[in-house]
Amino acid sequence: MGVSSVYHDYSSFHNGTTFASAFDNFNQLPELNFVEKVWGSYYYYMGNDLFATGLLFFLTHELFYFGRCLPWVIIDRIPYFRKWKIQDEKLPSDKEQWECLKSVLTSHFLVEAFPIWFFHPLCQKIGISFQVPFPKITEMLFQWALFFVLEDAWHYWLHRGLHYGVFYKYIHKQHHRYAAPFGLTAEYAHPIEVALLGMGTVGIPIVWCIFTGNLHLFTVSIWIILRLFQAVDAHSGYEFPWSLHNFLPFWAGADHHDEHHHHFVGSYASSFRWWDYFLDTEAGPKGKARREGKSLASGSKAQKLEKKTV
Ligand SMILES: [Zn+2]
Ligand SMILES: [Zn+2]
Repeated sequence: MGVSSVYHDYSSFHNGTTFASAFDNFNQLPELNFVEKVWGSYYYYMGNDLFATGLLFFLTHELFYFGRCLPWVIIDRIPYFRKWKIQDEKLPSDKEQWECLKSVLTSHFLVEAFPIWFFHPLCQKIGISFQVPFPKITEMLFQWALFFVLEDAWHYWLHRGLHYGVFYKYIHKQHHRYAAPFGLTAEYAHPIEVALLGMGTVGIPIVWCIFTGNLHLFTVSIWIILRLFQAVDAHSGYEFPWSLHNFLPFWAGADHHDEHHHHFVGSYASSFRWWDYFLDTEAGPKGKARREGKSLASGSKAQKLEKKTV
């Protein structure tokens, strides 16, 4: 077993070659919580930090992406849920789902499987820590919220740009193959698009750490999982009475992104509604109605102003 730098002091550790013995060692450390013990044992057991981080990120991506898609694949097969389907006449066929799955898997194994191994050296260079114990939960909560807001801004402008002429024709058109999206289509995109939009998810934490020197790999892992869930759910094609945006009106959700796929223009943001709302780019009849309402309101305001000045 090689030596991991996940913990600073192994003097009390007994030897062992199994994961259980690694966990047993970490279990003796009173300052660590359960998740920190598992995280520490994983790195200690692997004995190669670079490989451990690469594998962790690859598996996290596969497990949580497909794990989150699976309920949607099942829901699509249960007629009971049809009443909450946004474009109710457009259920994905088995063939469509299968082709999408093959394409996403190919891109995961051929495109994303390589840069992932450079992540650990990069973390070390810019100071993303992976040691236990983890930072305070309040610090992590703040960073997750910040990453959501910044990624949404990045996504809005990049995605809006991808809808211009040649960018759309050669890059973004692939993602728009399905006018009625389903969970699996979240990552169905051209590799250039994956790289550009992925910069918002991975690049923003990197830039944050370069400037502040304060970021943990666990925070990044959870952020990536949350962002995967957001992307898959936005493509689910279902709007429920309990969907998050009904409680958090600025959350985008499937309702927002389905309109984008349905109408091919507008509603460019990923997680929140504010960019599309304030820049008047909301898609579909709902967006149009709101725009008309807005211009009517500003028109009548202008009229009132005119009357006052006369
Ligand atoms: Zn688009
Ligand atoms: Zn989409």
